Amino acid sequence: MPDSNFAERSEEQVSGAKVIAQALKTQDVEYVFGIVGIPVTEIAIAAQQLGIKYIGMRNEQAACYAASAIGYLTGRPGVCLVVSGPGLIHALGGMANANVNCWPLLVIGGSPERNQETMGAFQEFPQVEACRLYTKFSARPSSIEAVPFVIEKAVRSSIYGRPGACYVDIPADFVNLQVNVSSIKHVERCMSPPISMAETSAVCTAASVIKNAKQPLLIIGKGAAYAHAEESIQKLVEQYKLPFLPTPMGKGVVPDNHPYCVGAARSRALQFADVIVLFGARLNWILHFGLPPRYQPDVKFIQVDICAEELGNNVKPAVTLLGDINAVTKQELASRESLPMNYYTVFYHVQEQLPRDCFVVSEGANTMDIGRTVLQNYLPRHRLDAGTFGTMGVGLGFAIAAAMVAKDRSPGQRVICVEGDSAFGFSGMEVETICRYNLPIILLVVNNNGIYQGFDTDTWKEMLKFQDAASVVPPMCLLPNSHYEQVMTAFRGKGYFVQTPEELQKSLRQSLADTAKPSLINIMIEPQATRKTQPFWWMYSCINPMNISSVQQNG
Ligand code: ADP
Ligand code: MG
Repeated sequence: MPDSNFAERSEEQVSGAKVIAQALKTQDVEYVFGIVGIPVTEIAIAAQQLGIKYIGMRNEQAACYAASAIGYLTGRPGVCLVVSGPGLIHALGGMANANVNCWPLLVIGGSPERNQETMGAFQEFPQVEACRLYTKFSARPSSIEAVPFVIEKAVRSSIYGRPGACYVDIPADFVNLQVNVSSIKHVERCMSPPISMAETSAVCTAASVIKNAKQPLLIIGKGAAYAHAEESIQKLVEQYKLPFLPTPMGKGVVPDNHPYCVGAARSRALQFADVIVLFGARLNWILHFGLPPRYQPDVKFIQVDICAEELGNNVKPAVTLLGDINAVTKQELASRESLPMNYYTVFYHVQEQLPRDCFVVSEGANTMDIGRTVLQNYLPRHRLDAGTFGTMGVGLGFAIAAAMVAKDRSPGQRVICVEGDSAFGFSGMEVETICRYNLPIILLVVNNNGIYQGFDTDTWKEMLKFQDAASVVPPMCLLPNSHYEQVMTAFRGKGYFVQTPEELQKSLRQSLADTAKPSLINIMIEPQATRKTQPFWWMYSCINPMNISSVQQNG
């Protein structure tokens, strides 16, 4: 009997037991485990009549273990139905076990009639209070009409956030009470848990910590199994070539016979890893608390968990990724795919650190056009670029002028000069001037190996195999992988060569902090990167390479 039928027969009466069973059915409860007796027998019968499977057990503890395993296996809670007092107390063990395992579970306990409360009723016990220690949510509905709401809330609490156990107390007088069908409001099935994702910057940082690891190790816990993250984690293992270690119930997320499984060398794997990624596993006794001597004292933990309070337990993690394991793994995979960086990634990270009062000098094709859309100016006369005449080569001269003015009139102000690699070439030797006068300039060379677009080293080598450069190298190409930062170090300024968002963030932070020396950050980007497709033709500026495709065809 679906609850929509209730409304159509408004004078009709319905028993409390049926209302409870219907609420469970609406929440997609498939299995009830329990032992019947006063006052819950009618609930079990009503549930069965609605097509819910009822499994009668011999002890409430086992019933509760069974119901909690349903939650782990299906992602929706199984129900454990128990009688008052001792019945409920027997179930506490199962509740505690589910809660500690982070598994969803709904326990429904009968309790004495409300009008006998505090009188020494049959099997009277403070059940809601007793369950509080073992659950995320423990409550008694205020009336039978409130049951659908409270059951929805209990089911929702059991699966949202960190999964766990919930308790709903049903006084005996609710069970046989007859209420008007029309007085029961329909409460919808609670939706599957919302998917949360980690912070983008943390995802980038994690990717580069993993990339720079010498002995990385992935630990796959039962949280990963619960999250159904098998497909994405296996992809991550294979793309990053990550050795992995499953915890006891994390086994099988990636098959035990996978070549990267180091289960057989567990102790050594833990002991020698320099970076450990925890996918849904807590650093508790099972993992030796993450502490020496079982681990390197300086091992970097990257923690992925849906529960914020778990992050940082027992160790100080290098990176924390708060979110659903499956979603975060996909984020990691996507961030890896987005290396080398493109213009938008670069400017996003530059904008994040740009001082509000700095001068922005810029020239180049894509570098200047795309940079202008992302980099913000807050003050007048603080942006200098290729200007009316579209002149390339003005950048360093402008930057030097801005730095002189800044030095004399507003000390402490910085000049950020954002150059394409081609534009930089027009006046690169002015770096010596910058260093000679020790000017507060940070040069960013956005390097795509060319004018408009370039090629990567492999394509370059391929081209030169058969003919000489002048015959085959497309006119817009510059020497790939050029270390322009060495122009700066040649004159004792600071030079950085960066390939990842994390390296970019770090070098920019250092350059801004270092007021004693000018610096140049050579930022390698995808040689074929361009701007986002523009919706209207006029959004491409006149110096943009509309004709680049014909150049490529010729080349
Ligand atoms: P194991 O016993 O396998 O080491 P634990 O039970 O210690 O695993 O850890 C499981 C972790 O997984 C818990 O901290 C829990 O919060 C987390 N978790 C559960 N579901 C998810 C999910 N969908 N996304 C991220 N973390 C999750
Ligand atoms: Mg270029």
